[in-house]
Amino acid sequence: MENLQDLFDKIMGTARNIEEGRVAAYIPELAQVDPSLFSLSMTTLDGTTCSSGDQGCFFSMQSISKAATLCFAIETLGRDKVFSKIGMEPCSEPFNSIMKLEMTSSLPLNPFINAGAIVLTGMFNEQYGSLAIAEIVDFFSRLMGRQTRGSLRINENIYRSEKATADRNRALAYFLHNAGTLSGDVEEALDLYFKLCSIEVNTVDISVMGATLASGGRNPVSGEELLSIDTVYIVCGLMSVCGLYDQSAEFAVEVGIPAKSGVSGGIVCVVPGRMGLGVFSPPLNKSGNSVAGIRALAALSRELKLRGI
Ligand code: GLN
Repeated sequence: MENLQDLFDKIMGTARNIEEGRVAAYIPELAQVDPSLFSLSMTTLDGTTCSSGDQGCFFSMQSISKAATLCFAIETLGRDKVFSKIGMEPCSEPFNSIMKLEMTSSLPLNPFINAGAIVLTGMFNEQYGSLAIAEIVDFFSRLMGRQTRGSLRINENIYRSEKATADRNRALAYFLHNAGTLSGDVEEALDLYFKLCSIEVNTVDISVMGATLASGGRNPVSGEELLSIDTVYIVCGLMSVCGLYDQSAEFAVEVGIPAKSGVSGGIVCVVPGRMGLGVFSPPLNKSGNSVAGIRALAALSRELKLRGI
């Protein structure tokens, strides 16, 4: 691991030297974060983790939660139910776009845009009622091998900040409810969605999540079998084509592995059969993806031949 540590340090030193990008400010609490934080972790399929940078720092999952949510949804509700209300198509609009909904029979294009994730939180509320959040946090904790590191927690400040300023997500949710796509209580579906976006993780956590997908569903740290191979294929397939919103194609060219980003500046990646990666750097590009994070991943992808060539 010594050479790998040197490689990580070198890559992060280079990727960090850029002034581009802006920290997300539309959720006021996210604007408070230190933009210079930078962390990179890798977990291989033997359960070994290697990290560099501000390793211990925590950040909210934001849309990275959408990949974990989809795992939970397919495992508990089944593929047919999940995809009865949500498509499997890439989206060329921003993650919170309303426009496409009116043009696509009111079905969200995929589970990784806000509309798709809110439809899923509505389904969870119907299935689990008030137990939904506890069930999901427990599942996410196991997905990230948290058994020995303590359960995941919700960052209350971020949760409240997003809930207080979520006009756009509210507009999406009420539109979906009016169209019959989102069932149950709209505010409760939104509330669960905000809580999932506010779950705090570090890059080790998300690298273990990536490694669980990379191994075909077995968490390499805890040894727990968590996901069926069909779930892994669906989640990784969608990560490949919609994981970075309207920048997904460019990311496929630059990095070339399944990934999911969030507006806090985190990105989780899956290198099938090899490893999971987690990176965090808050300044974002116009698509809402971490600028330095993508740079670091692009360099790592070439150095370690993460595409296999
Ligand atoms: N909580 C954020 C929102 O709903 C998640 C978006 C993201 O990470 N891209 O706007």
